[in-house]
Amino acid sequence: MRPQVSYSSARSLAPPQPTQRPPAPATPRPAANRLLASLHADLQQRLNDLGSRVALQKSAVLIEAGAQHTHVYFPCSGLLSLQTMTQDGNSVEVAMVGREGVTPPLAAIAGSPAAYTTSVTVAGEALRLRADALQAACDRHPALQRAVWTHWQAVLSDIALGSACHCFHTARQRLARWLLTASDRIQSSHLELTHEQLAEVLGLQRTGVSVANVTLQEAGAISSRHGRIRIIDRARLQTVSCECYHKK
Ligand SMILES: [Zn+2]
Repeated sequence: MRPQVSYSSARSLAPPQPTQRPPAPATPRPAANRLLASLHADLQQRLNDLGSRVALQKSAVLIEAGAQHTHVYFPCSGLLSLQTMTQDGNSVEVAMVGREGVTPPLAAIAGSPAAYTTSVTVAGEALRLRADALQAACDRHPALQRAVWTHWQAVLSDIALGSACHCFHTARQRLARWLLTASDRIQSSHLELTHEQLAEVLGLQRTGVSVANVTLQEAGAISSRHGRIRIIDRARLQTVSCECYHKK
């Protein structure tokens, strides 16, 4: 087995470098979020300075439904899920937010209780910003306000589309749509997701997810093993998906 080299022992082997500066602290890279990247560089930097970069740990709950909404998250990588839940613990995803956007800004700015539970589906990083700081920045920079509202108009359209999708389309179609959309958001064909997570976002029983998963594998669209799903034939997956994927 390859021995582990501790940081201290590795450092002791290196000759002293008197002119070498200590490494700069890691700085947030807001441009990794596409909404922020659409803004002027000075404004990106301003928001970067106002916020802090946080790790998005898989399955972590960032905002509980009903809790006071004090911060917003601009994902730089990974994927967030906005879910609504019933009293008996069932859940369904109403929207996903990735690098293209930001978590619900309106409730945060208004100081209202969160309407959705926001949790991490795919681990990554985000720029976390206080809601009042976002409000002040929107007041001063109309371009930011336009970008945030335009994104959320698109999310609300997705929510409306999702309502019809849940009622009229099959589990297999919806799973195909969800995998394609998630893959687009994280720009990867590999997704680490358990059937339990898929059941939560799709509002299905685990057995329903398992059956749909098997049919997609048999169609040659995906491979799935030990919580790792890979899209192996995107075109085929699109033919299985319901029309909702193509309407986005
Ligand atoms: Zn659909």
